[in-house]
Amino acid sequence: MKPHTKDYILEDSEIQKVRLSLSSFVEGLVTLGLLYTGMRVSEFVHFRREWINWKRGLIFVPRQQVCTCYECKRVLRNRKGEITKPSGVWKPKTKEAVRPIPILPEVESLFRAYFKNHNEIMDVVASRVYAWMIIKRVEKKSGVKLFPHVLRGTFATLLAAKDFDAVEITPMLGWKSFKTADEYIKLSGARVKKAVEEKWQEKQRSGVNERFGEKIHRERKQV
Ligand SMILES: [Zn+2]
Repeated sequence: MKPHTKDYILEDSEIQKVRLSLSSFVEGLVTLGLLYTGMRVSEFVHFRREWINWKRGLIFVPRQQVCTCYECKRVLRNRKGEITKPSGVWKPKTKEAVRPIPILPEVESLFRAYFKNHNEIMDVVASRVYAWMIIKRVEKKSGVKLFPHVLRGTFATLLAAKDFDAVEITPMLGWKSFKTADEYIKLSGARVKKAVEEKWQEKQRSGVNERFGEKIHRERKQV
């Protein structure tokens, strides 16, 4: 989904408000888990300990996994009527969604604490609907408009602000095209900031020196 407005991105002050309003471990797990991994809700509720490679600092979203949840009972078929997902199996939304996601420092201890005693997120967040309810509760408490896609978009923006480019961001979010990442990078203002730092300030510095040099030159001539 391509964002066209900043509605899909939380400002730093809003992230702060959201963080301060978290009052239980599960609220933190869902909200920060989504915010700092950029996972889709369906991915997050299916997130298991076996996805994590602590040594490499990565979470691997698998191609599929056996799942007994209500949602995964559904059989999916393509247009020809062939089964693309049998009952009792979970699959990510697209083939691009099968990807490694970095474990950022913001959630590392949270995930370590949780997966020490649990094998899967589903132990405490039974469904996509339940995850939504938690997000809506945090929205109400924080006064910040929240839905799962805002958290995903904000993750993309945080990466953009850290100078990741579209080629790096796209696979982390599991998008098909660079265009989506590009839109987030544009909205984040990261590119403008960088351009100003690199070009404007550089030009100003050399401009000042040139002028200064000329002045000295003129003064010398006059002497
Ligand atoms: Zn499932």
